[in-house]
Amino acid sequence: MSGVVVWLRAKLIPSDKFRDECGVVAIYSHPEAETLAYLGLHALQHRGQESAGIVTSDGLSLHIHKSMGLVADIFTEKKLSRLRGTLAIGHTRYSTTGDSALLNAQPIMVQSNKGMMALAHNGNLVNAQEIRGRMEAQGSIFQTSSDTEVIVHLIAQSREHTLPEAIADALRCVEGAFSLVMISPDRIFAARDPRGFRPLAMGRIPAQLDQLQDTIVFASETCAFDLVGANYEREVKPGELVIVGPEGTASLFYAPALAQSSCIFEHVYFSRPDSRVFGRPVQESREQLGRQLAIEAPADADLVVPVPDSGVTAAMGYAAESGIPLRFGLIRNHYVGRTFIEPQQSVRDFGVKLKLNPVRSLLEGRRVVLIDDSIVRGTTSRKIVRMVRGAGAKEVHMRISCPPTISPCFYGVDTPRKKELIAANNSVEEIRKYIGADSLSYLSLEGMKKACHDGEKTTYCTACYTGKYPTNLVDVEEILPATVEKP
Ligand code: SF4
Repeated sequence: MSGVVVWLRAKLIPSDKFRDECGVVAIYSHPEAETLAYLGLHALQHRGQESAGIVTSDGLSLHIHKSMGLVADIFTEKKLSRLRGTLAIGHTRYSTTGDSALLNAQPIMVQSNKGMMALAHNGNLVNAQEIRGRMEAQGSIFQTSSDTEVIVHLIAQSREHTLPEAIADALRCVEGAFSLVMISPDRIFAARDPRGFRPLAMGRIPAQLDQLQDTIVFASETCAFDLVGANYEREVKPGELVIVGPEGTASLFYAPALAQSSCIFEHVYFSRPDSRVFGRPVQESREQLGRQLAIEAPADADLVVPVPDSGVTAAMGYAAESGIPLRFGLIRNHYVGRTFIEPQQSVRDFGVKLKLNPVRSLLEGRRVVLIDDSIVRGTTSRKIVRMVRGAGAKEVHMRISCPPTISPCFYGVDTPRKKELIAANNSVEEIRKYIGADSLSYLSLEGMKKACHDGEKTTYCTACYTGKYPTNLVDVEEILPATVEKP
């Protein structure tokens, strides 16, 4: 030993993407409901990696386990065996409101005058603070800082006598985005907000010989159905509350559906390409986004290179439409955790280099079209362009498979404030200069809507590209441009 102490610095790996919100799953009537919920959450892990939880029912009472971390780490065989039940709901979370602590992990389970129940929520309520303030003034005590708890209190305080009516009553009071699953000792409930912001699909596993009923499954994305062997049946409709119990499945429209505004970013980025979301295969939308991009923003180039993994499917579409060969010129390391130890002698762009590495033999001397799904702050894109050039590319043409993101989301997606969004405060030419590309083009709003079949079965929210929000309530401070000082 030389006696020299080497200080290693652990740092968070920077992320320059909109962050996924949450994933929910529910199982009605299966002898291994807890295992099916666990598998469903595993398939939905990309929607939230901060905490996860499962609540099960054995027919009489509810049992819960939730913890910080990834689904596979939280639920050991021993933990699952303690959750044995025939009904289950599950949640995987990346916090959008409330602190990122175990206290706010979901499902939230309560004992109320309507009996025992638990609830898991994907989305964000825009009037939660207002309702909470009112309830606290009247003496309600909240256990968490999460907006979801407001729904639980509203259900408990409802004057309706049955749980389904009390849930419907509560849902009529809240505004914003919610896809919910709930559990009582003998029922599963699933609901979507009247605008249908976030997805929620219903599937079915046909009854086995020893089962009296089919198993009904709800999940944020259909990739969860594939893992548990469920067949996709339909979407839970905007404004609908589905109740599954011993007497079968019932549907209650607790509020008239409003103009539909399903999140188009589910198709652009969040959902897995093997999922069907809002009734449409994500793979088709994403490939079509790439094709449309090639039509609107052609490039004179030798290779189409996706930024992995976000740009892969759109790059396939771009390559197919343009006839330019697709090559994986950037390789992603899939085994990077949330923190890393940085060497003392700082290495330029170290965080991005940990995740991505260029394939020099492919890129050297080539004119490259680099495809990604978004530029949020621009810092990561700048490093990637520099990396591709550093590997010998002659030209780098950046193409983005959606329009510039100019406004934050209030509907369950973690986005930076407007002043941090590069496209909110700079022209496309200014962004091109900043990221150091030879050319930069985004897909048009109309092109994106066309690729996702807007107006056919689904009408989409596009507020983060237009600044036009489908609800009245938004946080004004969050949407101030960079040039405006806070009062
Ligand atoms: S603002 Fe953007 S991310 Fe949020 S729901 Fe609308 S389209 Fe989705």
